Amino acid sequence: MPELPEVEVTRRSFADAIAGATILALALGKPLRWPLCVAPASLVGRQVMAVRRRGKYLLLDLDEGVLLIHLGMSGSLRFAPGLPDRGAHDHFDMHTSHGTLRLHDPRRFGAVVWAAGESSPQALKLLGGLGLEPLSDDFQFEAFYAGLRASRMSIKQLLLGGKLVVGVGNIYASEVLFLARIRPTVRAATIGPQRAKRLHGAIREVLARAVERGGSTLRDFSSADGNAGHFQLEAHVYGREGLPCRRCDTPVRLLRQGQRSTYYCPKCQCS
Ligand code: ZN
Repeated sequence: MPELPEVEVTRRSFADAIAGATILALALGKPLRWPLCVAPASLVGRQVMAVRRRGKYLLLDLDEGVLLIHLGMSGSLRFAPGLPDRGAHDHFDMHTSHGTLRLHDPRRFGAVVWAAGESSPQALKLLGGLGLEPLSDDFQFEAFYAGLRASRMSIKQLLLGGKLVVGVGNIYASEVLFLARIRPTVRAATIGPQRAKRLHGAIREVLARAVERGGSTLRDFSSADGNAGHFQLEAHVYGREGLPCRRCDTPVRLLRQGQRSTYYCPKCQCS
């Protein structure tokens, strides 16, 4: 599943190229997770001003309205002047004066939704519940710490939920908790200020590094210009059950939390 770093890498791969382009035509395939919410023909002639990101949503600012794009479980975007004919899993083609933006999504959990603006009811339905944005100035320690104190969940579950901070998906949660030396099963509310500071820093560090490296190497992911990422190759604990911890040589352990895999070092993350 594309996570926040992959979505950010995707954004960077076409944001400059599409900025200023005029929409010439739209071609829709099978229904996606949510409907477009506007007649495709009404978008013809609109201009793409910029591409931003909020959580795992890409926001294409048009000169009137905004297109929210989510990659779902298996979606990927490509943007190029000349793409081959649409295949069975290409469900959204937006032809513009700078090239075609194509959503390829075999499982169709992705979506492209038009909204009148970022704070319109349509957009708020999707964006309204999102937590702090970890790679922005919005991610202040005080707010993060208050969120930890108010939670009744384990720290891993809280991070994964995305209501306090977005973007810490399953791979990143294991890595972040390893760097902060916090046991994934610990209750968020019991984490003191010093450890919370480490965790806050680790979230920024891990996500920023993942973006720099081009996102995780995931089966279905490739950025809009076709480059795969390398983050997973250098994971400290994720996917390394039984292998020696890179810090202390203790075998890395795997546990299940809410049906998701969690990897941790029992010695480095002893509480
Ligand atoms: Zn260790």
